[in-house]
Amino acid sequence: MSTESYEDALERLGELLSNKSDLGNKVAAKIKKLFGELEEFESKKSSDAVKQIKSGFIHFKNHKYLKNPSLFKALAKSQNPKFLVFACSDSRVSPSHILNFQPGEAFIVRNIANMVPLYDKTQHSGTGAAMEYPITKLNVETILVIGHSRCGGIKGLMSIEDDSAPSRSVFVEDWVKIGTPAKNMIKQEYGDLSFEEQCTYCEKEAVNVTLGNLLSYPFVRERVVKGKLSIRGAHYDFVNGTFELWELDVKTTPACFFS
Ligand SMILES: [Zn+2]
Repeated sequence: MSTESYEDALERLGELLSNKSDLGNKVAAKIKKLFGELEEFESKKSSDAVKQIKSGFIHFKNHKYLKNPSLFKALAKSQNPKFLVFACSDSRVSPSHILNFQPGEAFIVRNIANMVPLYDKTQHSGTGAAMEYPITKLNVETILVIGHSRCGGIKGLMSIEDDSAPSRSVFVEDWVKIGTPAKNMIKQEYGDLSFEEQCTYCEKEAVNVTLGNLLSYPFVRERVVKGKLSIRGAHYDFVNGTFELWELDVKTTPACFFS
């Protein structure tokens, strides 16, 4: 059953339900048939997803898991990743794919537009928890924040007309506003460029804002000062197939600290 016929079925069902008074046995049978078709369509969709998940796992098991028994035996006991990586949730930018991280090498946090908010115990505790564990317990050596080309989250941030206006989304808009200092800088410095070019600059500047925000976390700051932890920014451009990497600019500091 095609998507078109699924939509047709929904439409026909709607018409029938809006004329309930005319429902006779014949119509009721028709509705039953339509529901049958819808169920068949839903089950086909779900079985396609299950098939893909199953074949994906079988591929991983045959090509990675069973070929590296010593690695997976060691990983069963503990993990010792070198990297804590922040990347966007965008389906095109998986760090494991673009940087070839193997199991156990990178502790990865993904969210909209790869952002880290300023330290604040009262909100965004998910981000804080995902940092505290790999930094204080697993002792990662490097934090890598990866921005990327054509980031929808950054485009959303750059599209917000008035920062004081109420959000047009339930979560996304408030979240991407973490990058507002980057947006303000880009509007001021590159206001003459096209919107697309401004977004590209903002993808990189928002990474710098996050690098600065990372320093507002006491357990990050302490390790950076002692030389036990390095912080790097990056930008993956999947249009041109390039990856830019840079170190934390010490002049990039968060607006304020909470501790
Ligand atoms: Zn993105």
